Amino acid sequence: MAECIFCMIANKEIPSKIVYEDDQIICFHDLEPQAPVHVLIIPKKHISSLDDITGEDQELLGHIMLKVKDIAKELGLENGYRLVNNCGEDGFQTVKHLHFHLLGKRKMTWPPG
Ligand code: AMP
Ligand code: ZN
Repeated sequence: MAECIFCMIANKEIPSKIVYEDDQIICFHDLEPQAPVHVLIIPKKHISSLDDITGEDQELLGHIMLKVKDIAKELGLENGYRLVNNCGEDGFQTVKHLHFHLLGKRKMTWPPG
């Protein structure tokens, strides 16, 4: 999608600090980190939100989930981490391209505000 900022990152049209990449996904540092480690994991395919996935995306979503622990290990998050997806208006999703926040290296609070 031409005007989507995360598609532009996936296509290397704008720079990002890439942590991991393969043919299906890319992981890069968040511009405004909310924790000492804060990266975003996104599919290269444009999907607007978690609410927009279909059966066709089953393998892709499984691939993302299976990569989380590898990326976490690479980033030194052996003490744990939080994986977050914000979906839609009430979920406070600001970028309309599916992404998972991977946060670590600080104690998280629960429940969120
Ligand atoms: P969300 O509120 O869940 O949609 O999260 C969007 C995230 O994308 C925010 O944490 C932003 O800081 C981050 N973000 C926006 N633009 C960029 C960018 N160009 N590079 C890296 N992170 C970005
Ligand atoms: Zn996109």
